[in-house]
Formats: sequence, structure tokens, C-alpha cells
Amino acid sequence: MSIRQHLVPAAVLVFMTLNVAIAQEAKIVLTAAGKSPYTVVYAANATAAEKNAVRELTEHLKKVSGVSLSVKPEGEQMNGPAIYVGQTAFARSHGISFGDFGPEEWLIKAAGKDLVIGGGRHRGTLYGVWEFLERQAGIMWLDEKFTYLPRIDEFAVPDNLELRGKPAFAVRGIYAYINDQPEKRICFMARNRQNLFHDQSIPAALVESWALSPIIGSPRGCHTFYNYTKDWPAEYENCFSLSADGKRLRAVSPSGPGQVCFSNPQTRKLFIARLREYIKADRKRWPNSYPVIYDISANDDNQKCECEKCLALAKKYDSYGGVTLEFINAIADDIAKDYPDIQVQAFAYMFSAKPPKNIKARPNVLMRLAQLGTEFVVGNCDTLRPLTHSHNRVPLKQLRDWSRIGRLAIWDYFIVYQTVGPATNITAMPTNFRIYLQNKVESVFAELEKPVENSFYSLRLWLGCQLMQNPDRDANPLIDKFMNAYYGQAAAPFMRQYLNYLETRMAEVKSPLGNVPLQRQDCLDNAFFVRSEELLTAAEKAAAGDVEILSRIAKERVPVDFARLERAEYLKPGLTPDRREVIGRYKKNGLAAIGDFVSTDQREESQRAINDYVKGLSVNIPLPAEFKGQDVIDITWPRLKDNSIYGMYLVNDPDAAGGRALKLGTPGPNTFSPEFLQKFHTSDLEMGLYSASSKKELVTKKIPRTALAKDEKFHFYPLGKVTLEPNCYVWAHNSWVIQHKLWEFYNSNGLSNEYKIYLSLKVQGLAYVPGSKKEDAVLLDRVILCR
Ligand SMILES: [Zn+2]
Repeated sequence: MSIRQHLVPAAVLVFMTLNVAIAQEAKIVLTAAGKSPYTVVYAANATAAEKNAVRELTEHLKKVSGVSLSVKPEGEQMNGPAIYVGQTAFARSHGISFGDFGPEEWLIKAAGKDLVIGGGRHRGTLYGVWEFLERQAGIMWLDEKFTYLPRIDEFAVPDNLELRGKPAFAVRGIYAYINDQPEKRICFMARNRQNLFHDQSIPAALVESWALSPIIGSPRGCHTFYNYTKDWPAEYENCFSLSADGKRLRAVSPSGPGQVCFSNPQTRKLFIARLREYIKADRKRWPNSYPVIYDISANDDNQKCECEKCLALAKKYDSYGGVTLEFINAIADDIAKDYPDIQVQAFAYMFSAKPPKNIKARPNVLMRLAQLGTEFVVGNCDTLRPLTHSHNRVPLKQLRDWSRIGRLAIWDYFIVYQTVGPATNITAMPTNFRIYLQNKVESVFAELEKPVENSFYSLRLWLGCQLMQNPDRDANPLIDKFMNAYYGQAAAPFMRQYLNYLETRMAEVKSPLGNVPLQRQDCLDNAFFVRSEELLTAAEKAAAGDVEILSRIAKERVPVDFARLERAEYLKPGLTPDRREVIGRYKKNGLAAIGDFVSTDQREESQRAINDYVKGLSVNIPLPAEFKGQDVIDITWPRLKDNSIYGMYLVNDPDAAGGRALKLGTPGPNTFSPEFLQKFHTSDLEMGLYSASSKKELVTKKIPRTALAKDEKFHFYPLGKVTLEPNCYVWAHNSWVIQHKLWEFYNSNGLSNEYKIYLSLKVQGLAYVPGSKKEDAVLLDRVILCR
């Protein structure tokens, strides 16, 4: 079937389904020609969430049909038929006992001329209403700002209508928030049946009416070791993890450093006592809807406890995953005595990801498997491709093995973090969610950040929510529905073709997608940019005049245009439009997308980054005299990019190449241990080249403080002669905060990868230069690779 035949506008689809289905059957006409004989009736003892379900139903029906249905509590005098919402006496008298339903289980059932929509407490009735609005009225919540509302002249349902269901996974969350208007965002996610809001606090006004009390108890949803340990007195020093060089590491944030000593019985006692405190406090705060999952999971770093006993356990279980599991089992056993309903959740992540042998998880333990992408040093998952792909044999086996050890949760990644450009995980999603279900996964969560830089963000967010509810649904009709509603029926076929084309070309990349920078993605060739241009331009022509839809299409140009600019030197001349036009378009669309998708607190920074990048594209930075005439790769701003999360900033510096340099100042107290911070600018200056491919330092160099230039100017420091590996980065300063990936320069075509590497560095401040009035800092403005 061709794409065109496949595409029936969503609104028409709804009518067709209804009219065709209803033609042969008796039907209940709920609204017709702007009128309705129906009253919406709610139970006398309805909860706030059930009352909100009534509001959701009537407000949405008014939008699509123009009819305002009257609303009454059960028991009041009324004439004509009714839609009974929630746990009504009417439903009970028709043999429906919602008391036996699960907390998110729902039912939609016709009863004569009446209709029942309800479910278990505390979310079931809301879910019933949203299912009804989606399935019967064709309404879709496609992004925070856009609800698809088809116009319905006659709204009818079959008189034998009966649907019942519940989401396939008990816990569902996607980390993809726009923070500007928390209420709007939370309602959008809730309507798409998300119930895990990670670290986002829910405004009090929404907790009851949207049934959004927390799924995971205090203190938070992940990396909780820090919360459990931060106030341990000095007498418990041995409960912290022992580093390889024999030091107890006390975490200063949920990013570490270090973990705990898992085998020390005292550590377990401290966790159990604190867990009981959290449970008590949460039950006091949410007496009717308290959380039952408690997260006790490692800090976000890869340093495990290397004490003799912990290492012996790792050997016994053939994996460090067994050490953490034994620890969690002990806590779970103790807590089960008083709280049999509590589940204790722990990470199988980084050092604990490998499934252990000779141990099973207790029935009240939930192991949360997080398989990092290959762009991370310890990652092994090609996150944009299905788990059935040949690259993902190890991650798939790990998942299956963990599912045999105990109950399972998944922390998924819908993106690749270090390569931003035209790419999606849309082909991976349906397969992966089905695999999760087959392996009895109970809880799913996915990270989906970088909304501006990646392709089809809104589609992936919406599709992810759909598949988390029911992975057995066919993804293709869902994608078509989204395309028709989001881009309009005229532009949708072109956007669908563009998505299909992008996926076909992505499939040509032989390596895991986290391992190849844009510069080495040969699929992003001239043909790619020609075809993408054709399809996106055709979509824009088809949507002419519709400002909203045009902005959604323009958003898809951002990653494509960025890739064309980044790959300029690998493309043949002759592409249209010309480079100057692409630069202007990238800036305009990028800034607009930031306005739509980035929260106000990060907006200015994101805008600055785009403006900077565009400015940098036109700066001509001459090669220093000493390298003239040599075969070199010269890396300066704008290729040098900041990494403000880790404290590395791109700053203006008149002495720097192109006027900009990466600066490492003094980081805040929660980034490194106090011990490390004390020596931050007083140690010798180290630099090196690390290969994430072979997980080895290819070269390191220590520059004694006496050998550092004292003139507060940039100087070249030779790192030495090295042979690049596919995934290398240079780093300077022993914090490794200053770093730059060199992966686009690796030649896989037989050419030599041997280079002499030079770093242009400047040190400043009293720590380096006697009498200096400047802030202590190390700056990098240039890296030169010389053949
Ligand atoms: Zn230990």
C-alpha cells in the first residue's frame, strides 16, 4: 500500500469507523447537531479525581461537538439518559463492581441508552474517560500545546460498546519536560497516562484531582545513596565505599563520588532505619494513596566499593550486580516484616549491570536495568536501534537474564547524547516495548532530552506514551494518526516520507549510532540533503498559511541543517540552498524551537549557544606561524563546545584563537569532594588522550607547575605522538572537565591515524602566577593535530 493510500485524515477515520461500524448495529447518539439529551452523572461519594474525570469529559466533548452536557450528582432528579462516570450505584446495579478493579483499570460499557465510564481508584475513572475520548471521539494530546480535536456533528457509539483495560506496565514515565508551565506539562503527560514524574514535584492542586501522588517514595526516584548517607556521622566512615586506592569516599551529591560498602552489616542497618523513616513520613502525608516503591540506588558514578569482602562477593556471584542485589535483598527482607506491600527498587547500572549468578531477587525487590548507550565509556547499548539488532546482543541477553533473577524495571534511553542531528529511535520503540512486556518488565522509564537538536521529538514522546500503555499496538497506524493530526493531512504524507527516508538512511550506518559523530555518518551525504530538502519543502508548500504547522515542520529542519553545516567539508559542492541561506535558516528555526521547547531557565543559554555557533561559522582564524605549511587539523571555537553541566564554559578571551576559549574555573562545592577541590588549582597540570574504544589512556603528560608559563597567555604544550582510535578525547586538568572529542578525525579508510598533538593552554590566577589578580583558571583555546 502506498503512503498516500494509507493516509486518511484522522478526523475522517473516526467518522468512517463509527459510521461503518454503526450502520449495521444499533447505536447510542450522544450528541447531534449541537444538542444532547444526556446528563453526566457522578457518584455521590466521588473522589476529586473522579470529579475531574467528569470535567475532562464534558470540556473535551464541548470542544469537539459544541454541546455543554449538564452534570449532576447521582440521586438528583433528572430526565433522559445519562453517562455515569465513576463508581456509581447505577454501575453497581448493572453488575459492575469497580471495587475489584486495579487502581488504573477502567471500563466503558453501554447499558441500554445509558453509558458507564469508570474504573478502580484512584486513577481508573480518569483513564476510562481519556480512553473514551481517544477511542470514541478521536481526540489526541499530541504535545503540551496541541490537542487534536476533530469536529463531530453526530457523536454516536455502538449500543453494545464494551471496552475494558489497564496499562501494560504499572509504572510509566518519560523524562522530557518543558518546565515553563508545570501544570500544563503535567496535565499533558497525565492525559497520556504517564504516572511517573521522576523528580518533578506535582503542584498540590493537581495531586488529588489528577490522582498524581508519587509512585516512588521519598527521598526521590533514583541515585538515592547520597540522600541516605549525607548525614552519616564520622563513626560510620567504614560504611562508605572503599576506592581502589584505599580511600573511603563520601558522596557530595547524587553523582558521587563513590557509593557505600555493600557487605558491611552496619551499612544495611543504617539504610533499613532510614527507609522506615521515609515510609512513615510518606504514609502520614498521603494516607490514602501512599507510594509503595522505594528507590535505594547507587549514585551516578562508576566507583564501586573495592573492599576485600565486597570484591569476594562479586567473585561469588560472577558480577558486582550480585553484591548490590545481596545488599538490597537484606534490606527487602527486613522491611517485609512490617511492610509487606513495599517494593525496594535498585539499579542494575554501570558497575552492577551485568546479571549475577547464584542469587535471586526477593519478591519485594524491583531491579531497574539501565543500559547506557555506546557513547558512554561503560555503555554497550545501541540505544536508537531495536534490542533485536545485532549490535544489541549483549544488552538483550542481560535483560533476559535479569528477568529470570527477579522483578524488573527498565530505565531506557530514547536518544544518543553526544551525536545530535537527524536521527530517531522510532523503529526501536515498538520492538523494545514488546520485549519488555515479554520479559515481565513492570516499570518503564525513558530519557528523552534535547528536544531541539533531535528529530521528531513530539512524535517520539507521544508514541512512547502510547506504547507504554499497550506495546501490542501496531506502531505504524499510530504514527500515521500522529502525522495527519500534527502536520495536517496535506503535509503529513511528505513528513511521513521524510521519516521513512531518514530511517532507511540511518540503517546504513554500520557502527552503533552512539559511536559515530555526524562527520563520520556517511549516510548524511549529498543525496540525503537533496531528498530531505525536497520533502521538507514540499511539506511546507502543502501547509502554506498555517503558522503552527509550518513551525512544526521548521523544527525538523534544525537537526538536518545543523548536520549539513557540521559536515560541510565532507560534502560535494552544488547543494541548494547555498550555505549562507542554510546558516540563516538554522539560526531562525533553532531560536524558534528553543522558544517552543526549552524552559525559560535554560533558554538564554541555549540561544547564546546557537548565536555563538552561527557567528563562529563565519570567523576566519589563521593558523599559527609555527604550523604553517604543515598537514594539520586545527580545532578552535566554534568546534570547541562548552559543557556547562560539568563546569566547562566557552568564554570571551581577546587572547584566544577566534576570541573564545574553554574555561575551567573553580567548581561549586557539590561537584567534587572537598579533598579534591582543595588541590584543584595547586596540583601539577595534567593532560592526556583517552580512548573510549579500548578504555585506555593512549598518552598522558604531567606539566610541572614550574614549567607552566607565568605570563597569563596561551602557549602550546605538546602532548606527544599518538595513534588515534575511533573514539578518543583529549583532556586537560586532572578533573578531566576540560575535554574535547576527536572522534570525527579517525580514519577508517586505511589512512594513517598517527598525529603529534598540541594543546594551547593558558593558566591564570594566584594559584599559578604570583601576584595575579585574576580568578584561578585553566583555559584551552586550540588543539592541533599534526601529521
Ligand atoms: Zn565494601
